[in-house]
Amino acid sequence: MIVGVSFSPVQEYVMRIGERIEVLGNGFIELRDVMGSDDSIAEAARASYGKGTKRKSDNEALIDRLVRDRHTSAFEMAEMQFFVKCPLFVRSQWQRHRTWSYSEYSMRYSEPIEDECYIPDPEDWRLQSKSNKQGSQGKLSETAGMDDCERLTRQYGVVEDRAFGAYRNAIDLGVAREQARMSVPVSTFTQFVGKCDLHNLLHFLSLRKKKDAQQEIRVYADLIAKAVEAYFPVTYASWLNHVFNAFKLSYRETTAIMIKDWDGTITFGDEKERERYIEKLKYLGLGGVQ
Ligand SMILES: Cc1cc2nc3c(=O)[nH]c(=O)nc-3n(C[C@H](O)[C@H](O)[C@H](O)COP(=O)(O)OP(=O)(O)OC[C@H]3O[C@@H](n4cnc5c(N)ncnc54)[C@H](O)[C@@H]3O)c2cc1C
Repeated sequence: MIVGVSFSPVQEYVMRIGERIEVLGNGFIELRDVMGSDDSIAEAARASYGKGTKRKSDNEALIDRLVRDRHTSAFEMAEMQFFVKCPLFVRSQWQRHRTWSYSEYSMRYSEPIEDECYIPDPEDWRLQSKSNKQGSQGKLSETAGMDDCERLTRQYGVVEDRAFGAYRNAIDLGVAREQARMSVPVSTFTQFVGKCDLHNLLHFLSLRKKKDAQQEIRVYADLIAKAVEAYFPVTYASWLNHVFNAFKLSYRETTAIMIKDWDGTITFGDEKERERYIEKLKYLGLGGVQ
C-alpha cells in the first residue's frame, strides 16, 4: 500500500511491514522488518533477574520502570528496519546517527535515482528563525507574496535542471559517475536501508522528532514513531511519558524555583540562561509569569 504524506499531520497513519508511505514528493519510508515486541523486551529484562515469565500487566509495569530508570539494555534486543528514500540533505542528518546500520544507493555505481529533486511547494518555504540560528519559524508566504514564493520554487527548479544538465553532459562525454555526481545538488533523492535497535531508535526520535529538528527529517521521524507505537505500544507510551514529553530542569533552575527566585536575578548571572528559565516558568505557570 502507498499513501502520501507531505507536512500534514501523520496521526492517521499506522505503518505496518511492507507499507510504503510517500514523503516529500518523491521520497518514501517503508517499514521492512521488526524483531521483538514489548513482551520479548520484558522477557529479556527478566533474564537479568532470573524470575521467569510473568503476566502481561507485569510486563507493562516492568517496561515502564526500565524506561523511567534508563535501564536500556533490554530495548537493544528489539530492532526495526526501514527502507528510506529522502533528499541527500536529510540523509546527511540521518546518518550522523552511528548506531544505525546502513546500506545506501551508490552514485559511483549507478546514476542518480532520477533527474528529480525535492523542491518545496510555494507555500512550504519557511523563514529563518530569529531565536534559533539553525532553525526556521513561520512561512515565507506571511512576509512575501505568493508570486515571490512561486518564483522561488521555479528558480530552484531551474537551478536543479541545470545541475542535472551538467551531470548528463559529463556522463555523455564519458566522465566517471563518481566524478560527474559533483554537480548533483543536496536536494537530490537517495535511498538506503537502515536498521536500528529500539533503544537507539528512541534516541533518534528524541532528537529528530522534536520541534527544533529540521521539518524535512521530522516528517520521517514522525512516521517512524507511528511504527514504533504500532509494534511496541507499551514501550512507546512509557518513552513519551518519561523521556520525550518529560520536562527538564537544570540544577540551577530547580534551585531558583525552590527559593522562589521568580525573576531569576539571584540565581542567574547569564542573561540567556535566565531567559530560558523564565520561559520554563511560563510553561509551568509558576511565579505569576505570563
Ligand atoms: C537539532 C540538531 C542540530 C544539530 N546540529 C549539528 C551541527 O550543527 N553540526 C554537527 O556536526 N552535528 C549536528 N547535529 C548532529 C548531532 O551532533 C549528533 O551527531 C547526531 O544527532 C547523532 O546523535 P548521537 O551521536 O547521539 O547518535 P548516535 O550516533 O546514534 O549515537 C547514540 C549514542 O551512542 C553513543 N555513541 C555513539 N557513538 C559514540 C562514540 N564514537 N563515542 C562515544 N559515544 C558514542 C552516544 O551516547 C550517543 O548519544 C545536530 C543534531 C540535532 C538533533
